Amino acid sequence: MTRDPAASGPPPEEAGGVLTIDLGALVANWKSLAAKAPGAACAAVVKADAYGTGIDRTVPALARAGCRTFFVAHLSEGARARAAAHDADIYVLNGLLPRTGQAYVRDRLRPVLGSAQEIAEWAAFTAAEGVRIEAAVHVDTGMNRLGLSVPEAIATGEAGLRGCPVNLLMSHFVSAEEPENPINARQLDAFAAVRRAFPSFQGSLANSSGVFLGASAHHDLLRPGYALYGGNPQPGAANPMLPVIGLEGRILQLRWVEDGDTVGYNATWTARGSRRIAVISVGYADGFPRAASASDGRHGADAMVGGVRCPFAGRVSMDLIAVDVTEAPRDLGRGDPVSLMDPAISVDHVASSAGMSGYEVLTSLGRRYARRYVD
Ligand SMILES: *Cc1c(COP(=O)(O)O)cnc(C)c1O
Repeated sequence: MTRDPAASGPPPEEAGGVLTIDLGALVANWKSLAAKAPGAACAAVVKADAYGTGIDRTVPALARAGCRTFFVAHLSEGARARAAAHDADIYVLNGLLPRTGQAYVRDRLRPVLGSAQEIAEWAAFTAAEGVRIEAAVHVDTGMNRLGLSVPEAIATGEAGLRGCPVNLLMSHFVSAEEPENPINARQLDAFAAVRRAFPSFQGSLANSSGVFLGASAHHDLLRPGYALYGGNPQPGAANPMLPVIGLEGRILQLRWVEDGDTVGYNATWTARGSRRIAVISVGYADGFPRAASASDGRHGADAMVGGVRCPFAGRVSMDLIAVDVTEAPRDLGRGDPVSLMDPAISVDHVASSAGMSGYEVLTSLGRRYARRYVD
């Protein structure tokens, strides 16, 4: 059998799990987010290996579709994004660490400067090197994490950055996925006030959920991450994004358990009546959350088996998950696929069944899977 050149990881027939990443859906998601803000450009946030989907594949797909700007968190991610998109603008959100200036020059990366000290260092470094790389300045409008405070940014103003190459002013929402949260309006007002002190700069505020807060959140450049990868930017409402991630495990064994039998570590799940159990070749060492386990008091995650939605049975263990397939078709066999994520079992489902955020589920997608990229 010849290997799919787009694949990575072990050959699918030898792998415990097969992860499928739909680059066509990713690009469609980027286009639909961009279309929500016709006056703005749409960047792509590809930190953490493009939320686990593989920066080397997602960045070229998005660049071909017309995405000109990428955001990463680390310099090393920036280097990988640069190798995948030669002409794009690539910003490094975690900003300028001491002695990293040359790495920015080498890969033509743009630091997101988050303090007066970083701004001063970038001004001195670029002047001494005679390089002109446009940076961004991050203003903290409520997160209290990175960035200049609002009064500090207004006091600095555009005049205070003369000599330091900067062209983008950005801030980050605290709770954009909660449209009713009054902190959104406070951040919108604060960001608008700061922008007045930087009249010639571009502005960027909206993450995925921020895109759905309306035109006042859009400014010049959208910065979605999660929604590109199929995550729901509007929790509680129907997900407007296409699913990007598919995850299939395989059935290793099928067995019947009888009323009162328990399944898995610590005997947390008890069969009620005679139940058929399929044991699947994926576990928490693959990055599947152990917190999605089922017990007598807790439902846990579901899997799709032969077109039927089936609940987990007992603990997710390191390399295995047991699924109650009693309601699934009877002709299941060893080696048959079981979907742990697909259009019916979303990233958000896995996350909520585990009490986690979908961001964690995506960024934990494991290295043991065979990875297939489809378009
Ligand atoms: C991660 C991140 C984003 C993307 O946020 P999503 O909620 O994934 O769309 C945007 N901006 C900053 C500063 C980030 O850290």
